[in-house]
Amino acid sequence: MHLLIDSHAHLSMLAEDEEALSSQIDEWISAGLTAILDVGTRSDDLEPRIDLVQKCLCRRRDGESTTGDLRPTIRFSAGIWPSEEAIQNRQQHIDELETQILKAPKNLLAAIGECGLDRHWNSSEQPALVRGEQELFEAQLDLAQRYSLPVIVHSREAARETLEIIRAFPSVRGVIHCFSYGLEELLAFQDLGWYISFAGNITYKNAQSLRDALGVVSMERLLLETDSPYLAPVPHRGKAANPAMVRYQYEGASQIKHLPVETIARQVFINFNTLFRIM
Ligand SMILES: [Zn+2]
Repeated sequence: MHLLIDSHAHLSMLAEDEEALSSQIDEWISAGLTAILDVGTRSDDLEPRIDLVQKCLCRRRDGESTTGDLRPTIRFSAGIWPSEEAIQNRQQHIDELETQILKAPKNLLAAIGECGLDRHWNSSEQPALVRGEQELFEAQLDLAQRYSLPVIVHSREAARETLEIIRAFPSVRGVIHCFSYGLEELLAFQDLGWYISFAGNITYKNAQSLRDALGVVSMERLLLETDSPYLAPVPHRGKAANPAMVRYQYEGASQIKHLPVETIARQVFINFNTLFRIM
């Protein structure tokens, strides 16, 4: 069995309490999962997310777990997804996010994000919203720069604008999560020193362009993720995803890159630790 990492999941969306999450974690460990990055989407979610996972891990230490002492490494990011509400009240949300960042235990906070641009939901026909979305993104890149943290970027139907903004922060590095573009965009992000993370949609029938991009991405820039509970891979498409399903992404990458799963897993481990400095 290979030791797998899920570089992007939303654990608090998977289970409502520590009891439910605890038993799920046991299952993920049995499936070979070794580390998870739990990703934030709101300015006020970091503290409750850390709290939920800590309670869960304590419970497991107290002997209620079936996998004994084995524990996955779970680290956290803090960021604001570009919802219309967050964009409209951006200054207040950025201030709150910064307060949460300052309060969080340094060893648990690994990144800023997810943050970015979503032209699917925030249409360019609303110029004020688009301008606000850009400012919300820039403010989080600025936080990343000031606190020397890597960034998890959400970018949908906005490759050119995303590139333009991250170019303005040359000292900031990060990952384009759930990559959804083509080869040209892949190379542009990669040339800036950014990592590219592929999610469960690489297993979808109509996603040949994503598989082509995965075929071309440099091994030194590759990350894999579930984005749980979203985007469950085939054969679980339509269900809620969980971090153990990341194995389908590793198997997909192995086939596309003609390399053993073990080689993919070793490289993703190195990349994950190089970018997020976790283990
Ligand atoms: Zn996400």
